Amino acid sequence: MTDGEIMYAKTTPNNMERIIDRIKGTIYGQAIGDALGLGTEGMTDEDMAWKYPNGIKHYSDIFQDRHRKRWKIGDWTDDTDMMLCIADAVIKDKGVNFTSIARNFKEWADGEPMGIGETTYKVLSFGDYVDKPLDASKMLWEMSHQQSAANGGVMRTSIVGLFPKAVEECAANICRLTHYDPRCVGSCAIVSLLIHSLVYDEEKISYHKMIDIAQKYDSRIREYIDLSLNTDIRALELQDWDSVGYTLKTLAAGLWAYWNAPSFEEGLLSVVRAGGDADTNAAVACAILGAKYGFSAIPQEYVDGLIYREQLEEVVSGMIELAK
Ligand SMILES: [Mg+2]
Repeated sequence: MTDGEIMYAKTTPNNMERIIDRIKGTIYGQAIGDALGLGTEGMTDEDMAWKYPNGIKHYSDIFQDRHRKRWKIGDWTDDTDMMLCIADAVIKDKGVNFTSIARNFKEWADGEPMGIGETTYKVLSFGDYVDKPLDASKMLWEMSHQQSAANGGVMRTSIVGLFPKAVEECAANICRLTHYDPRCVGSCAIVSLLIHSLVYDEEKISYHKMIDIAQKYDSRIREYIDLSLNTDIRALELQDWDSVGYTLKTLAAGLWAYWNAPSFEEGLLSVVRAGGDADTNAAVACAILGAKYGFSAIPQEYVDGLIYREQLEEVVSGMIELAK
């Protein structure tokens, strides 16, 4: 600090306005990506050419087949439901209590949601899950011969990036409540830390810093960070059947949007139109873009079209209180 320079506290009123715009952007971004991404979930280019000859752009375009018509137009799916389980627990507890989060996951699953990932379903089915979530998730991972690394952790982690502190530790532990693999945990740490840095205007997470974070968890993550640097999203092969739902594919999709999307809307449409696990990929990508560009940069129609928008508003208020 040189003479005459004034150091401001981290949250000056001006700064707070900017932080609020980005908190709101993250939460809405997640829900919007999820809601529009449902429209191409599980689709290939051939499917999309047939179902969306003019390209999908709005919730009202969503093709009403057997899978998709279970949701109302403008509803989001399990990705955002589970993000809200975390948010609700943290707002209620005014802090992070992993048992409360696990309990919310369990109650949500018991309500027979329309979509639930296989790993999440199996872990939450353990009899004593709420008391011993880590035992359940570790056991299931061991049963997969340490192979299972689905995107059910990373799909809900954006909210952790909004926590005022201990982001990496919380992201890792909340991920492990259902997804124990270090590739899942590393994905959550990277996405949450990236969002935190964007929202709270801290030092940007460079490519090299991201690699350093990744290496703490699993050496297999690096390849997917590198993949995300491609300007053409097709390089990510998001429709590749063998890797649909893989945490590192979803991480790559989110980071691709971060490096490459010139606006919220362009990123949203690129990721949704890439098909594959589009609701999850777009939920992660658009939470990051919402943190990067802010709520004020999201086209109004995507906000207005969310039918459970009021629920998001409550969570936005709660998270802002925690950030103050
Ligand atoms: Mg989903």
